[in-house]
Amino acid sequence: PPARAAAPRLRPDDVFIAVKTTRKNHGPRLRLLLRTWISRARRQTFIFTDGDDPDLQQQGAGSHVINTNCSAVHTRQALSCKMSVEYDQFIESGRKWFCHVDDDNYVNPEGLLQLLSTFSPSQDVYLGRPSLDHPIEATERVQGGGTVTTVKFWFATGGAGFCLSRGLALKMSPWASLGSFMSTAERVRLPDDCTVGYIVEGLLGARLRHSSLFHSHLENLRRLRPDSVLQQVTLSYGGPENPHNVVNVAGGFSLQQDPTRFKSVHCLLYPDTDWCPVQKQV
Ligand code: UDP
Ligand code: MN
Repeated sequence: PPARAAAPRLRPDDVFIAVKTTRKNHGPRLRLLLRTWISRARRQTFIFTDGDDPDLQQQGAGSHVINTNCSAVHTRQALSCKMSVEYDQFIESGRKWFCHVDDDNYVNPEGLLQLLSTFSPSQDVYLGRPSLDHPIEATERVQGGGTVTTVKFWFATGGAGFCLSRGLALKMSPWASLGSFMSTAERVRLPDDCTVGYIVEGLLGARLRHSSLFHSHLENLRRLRPDSVLQQVTLSYGGPENPHNVVNVAGGFSLQQDPTRFKSVHCLLYPDTDWCPVQKQV
């Protein structure tokens, strides 16, 4: 027998993928995700929204839709309310890895699993892509006295997706669980993704591991080499304000048929999908 038992292989169900969405995005954004990557990662994926929608079940979302009852506005408070519910549900799930993505992200579930399997969930792991090339500096209002101090820390941009190990997530609990995430966000007056960085780096002294495999539409997605697109862990797209900021990938769909390029990526990864163009015989 081997001298040491190998760590058990990471299974898809060990990962909790939280997708943040809002009622008005169910049709325009979430539907595409349900038809593409979520269809290959159903048991791992949990959708956090802010309004009931009977159509979601029919579209294949199953029972993994959580109405956070957070307000449906794009404010710091509403967004950190959602993150706080995502965090609590992850802790309750008992899974090994927490990953957060937005509803304009494509996730490559196998790529994600492969990346996470190179780490131990009991270690402090915070993985993602910063949107800044320097740490952010925030003013911290210490409760009680009127003192204000400054903290510098890196954070992974939420729009590219990020992951936390269970070990680290558990250590975050005094500042993240049962609604305390919202008070923590107010203490630094920063958005939800920055607040995660503040807790991990600023309060716990752990470090963000910068990964170039996560992508948001804050970067130029056309710069990703076509032959490397399928190896990435997350992708995104510019949307109506920036329709040309999409990944460069060939395939059976024109830009008009597939403006986000997610269908094209999905059919290259999973050509056996019933709505994908029939492959040419080689
Ligand atoms: N979002 C939300 N509530 C809102 C607006 C947006 O939960 O009122 C979510 C949205 O579904 C997405 C994320 O926040 O997952 C980021 O929104 P968006 O992509 O529209 O803006 P960005 O910050 O990327 O410019
Ligand atoms: Mn976005």
